[in-house]
Amino acid sequence: MKVLVLNCGSSSLKYQLFNMEDETVLAKGLVQRIGIDNSYLEHKPGDKPKVKIEAEIPDHHKAIQMVIDALLHDEHGVIKDMSEINAVGHRVVHGGEAFADSVLINEEVMRALEANIELAPLHNPPNIAGIKVCEKLMPGVPQVGVFDTAFHQTMKPHAYLYGIPYEYYEKYGIRRYGFHGTSHRYVSKRVCELMGIPYEKAKIITCHLGNGASVTAIDGGKSVDTSMGFTPLEGLLMGTRSGDLDPAIIPFLMNKENMTPADIDNLLNKKSGLLGVSGISNDSRDVEEAASNGNERAQRALEIFNYRVKKYIGAYAAAMGGLDAIVFTAGIGENSISTRAGILEGLEFLGCKLDPERNNVRGKEALISTDDSKVKVYVIPTNEELVIARDTKEIVEKL
Ligand code: ADP
Repeated sequence: MKVLVLNCGSSSLKYQLFNMEDETVLAKGLVQRIGIDNSYLEHKPGDKPKVKIEAEIPDHHKAIQMVIDALLHDEHGVIKDMSEINAVGHRVVHGGEAFADSVLINEEVMRALEANIELAPLHNPPNIAGIKVCEKLMPGVPQVGVFDTAFHQTMKPHAYLYGIPYEYYEKYGIRRYGFHGTSHRYVSKRVCELMGIPYEKAKIITCHLGNGASVTAIDGGKSVDTSMGFTPLEGLLMGTRSGDLDPAIIPFLMNKENMTPADIDNLLNKKSGLLGVSGISNDSRDVEEAASNGNERAQRALEIFNYRVKKYIGAYAAAMGGLDAIVFTAGIGENSISTRAGILEGLEFLGCKLDPERNNVRGKEALISTDDSKVKVYVIPTNEELVIARDTKEIVEKL
């Protein structure tokens, strides 16, 4: 079975074509600047070199058509006929309370997705557009939706409700949903395989530290709490997002700086975090470099980043009443040796001891705690696309 995995953003689209017999990636690529000028597609077929195709790409229809053309191309294509694509798996950001698992897309699911637009106004519309375009370009090919929020639907009310009048949960669905669920699910299962322990019995904290970042507590294979909330803004300090803050800061700043709700939304989502505190960049590599050259604001930004992750680890160990393993994943978690060391410093009381030599690793699966560390710490590269392809195969095989 061949599965095309699509991740449609508002101005970009990432894809991977999997051969599910051996889970190999036949081709992958991305379309950039959809609906803007200078748009292009970058396509990487298997072992062959990358090709870049520049074109006017006004919408997702054209973008997906170009992906299909690239997959079928005489020279850089990897399939001979469109019928070789047996199924399409879509990453969908917000499934709201309607979806606790991946689902086969049908009319009812589409209605539920449309109803969730209000919860993810930037993310869900391009996801929906991608599904509709595939229905047109590949009629009859089954499509599956895999939700960023689904894994966290196991949280109990005490973890997902906010302390505001209950009627706003009922009226608007204001609650914690959590995101990055596909990644937290993948690395938490994988760490149990590596440790040889049953997923159903393990207490795990997964730290997905990328440009967007979140921590999740997984008890017995179920997400019991996660740091992102109603939107991805809550929790850790991120590349450009503030994470947790006193909500009273919002009206205070709006008054002082004469800001509209849209201004404050933009400030907290796009201009805060590592970028806002350091004044240098949202990219942790740039901030790390400036910090090592003595830039104090860059140092503060990294200290806040590490401190927040540490606080969540402590909180979630308490929430679960124990801890077997901590996993680091995504761009920063997989690659930043100093960030991992900074986060774990002082957690020896929890039974967590980092081995500095083992920690000297980037971008590959590795145990980084000492042999006598009660809590095992691992680096595990995430692979959300593979999870989407696996879920898609599983659902489509049952049809
Ligand atoms: P997202 O998918 O949320 O955009 P990523 O998971 O790609 O984010 O992570 C991006 C972050 O990872 C950036 O802050 C970047 O600096 C960091 N990162 C990527 N590679 C490295 C590396 N080799 N060393 C340190 N940080 C890295």
